Amino acid sequence: MSTPPPTDDTVAAIRARVAAWRAAGERVGFVPTMGALHAGHLALVRTARRSAERVVVSVFVNPTQFAPTEDFGAYPRDLSGDLSKLASVEADAVFAPTTTEMYPQGFATQVSVGGPAIGLETDFRPHFFAGVATVVAKLLIAVGPDVAVFGEKDFQQFLVVRRLVADLRLPVEVVGHPIEREADGLALSSRNAYLSPEERATAPEIYAALAEAALAIRSGTDAQAALSAARGRLAASGFVVDYVELRNAEDLSPAETPPHGPLRLLAAARLGRTRLIDNIPL
Ligand code: AMP
Repeated sequence: MSTPPPTDDTVAAIRARVAAWRAAGERVGFVPTMGALHAGHLALVRTARRSAERVVVSVFVNPTQFAPTEDFGAYPRDLSGDLSKLASVEADAVFAPTTTEMYPQGFATQVSVGGPAIGLETDFRPHFFAGVATVVAKLLIAVGPDVAVFGEKDFQQFLVVRRLVADLRLPVEVVGHPIEREADGLALSSRNAYLSPEERATAPEIYAALAEAALAIRSGTDAQAALSAARGRLAASGFVVDYVELRNAEDLSPAETPPHGPLRLLAAARLGRTRLIDNIPL
C-alpha cells in the first residue's frame, strides 16, 4: 500500500507547497473534484500526470453550486477512502479546504459566466454555474497549476471553465478528458451511488438513447425527430427528461442545419431522486 498524499486545508499551505515545486522547476497539474472518487476521477489524475511532474487533487463539496432543494447534505463524502484511492495513482497532494476557508465570513464575490453557461443545465439549475465558476476560479487561484484537467462528463461545465480561464486570462492550460463509463455504458458518477438496483439497471438507457440518436442523425434522420425519439425512449424507461439537445461542441450554441464544425448531443434526466447527465460527440 502506498502512503496517502499529504493534505492541505488552507490556501496558504497549498500555495506554499506548489511554490516549492515550481522553484524546483516542476510542472504542476490540478484535478478539482467534490470527492467520493471513482475510476473516472483517477483517470483525470493520470491525464494530469502526463503533462506535469506533480499533481494536486482538490476535494471540496462546494455549497454554492447546490440549490437549497438539492443534495448538498446527502452528497457522498469519504475523505479517507479518497486518500487511499489517490495514493494508488500517486497524487502528490490533496487540497481539502473547509467551507470557511473557501468562503470567509462576509464573502460577497461571485464569478458569473455567460456564453456556454446559458441554457441546458442553467434552465434547470439556475445558480449552478455561478457556483461552479466562482469555486473553480478560487481553486485555480489558490493552487496556481500549469494545467488543470476537467472531465467531459460535465461537458457544459468544461466549456464554462474554458471560457472563464480565457476571459480572466488565468495562466493555466485547461485539458478535457473523455467520459469514463461502466461496461454497460453508464457514465461513472459519484451520484450513481444513489441508484436503487432497479434504477441502476435502467440508468444505461441514457447513454443508449444518445448513441441511438447520434447514429440516426449521422445516417441522415432529421435531428429534431431523432431528439424527440430519444426523449420518448427515456420517458418510456421511467426517466423524467430535463433535456436532450444537439449543440455546437465549441460553444453550445444551437446546431444549424447543415452543421458547421463538431456537434455534441447532451442529456439530463431524473431517475427517481437521482439526476443523471450524459453527452456524446457526433
Ligand atoms: P465531480 O467531483 O464528480 O464533480 O467531478 C470532478 C471532475 O471529474 C469533473 O471534471 C468531472 O467532469 C470529472 N468526472 C466525473 N465523472 C467523470 C467520468 N465518468 N468521466 C470523466 N470525468 C469525470
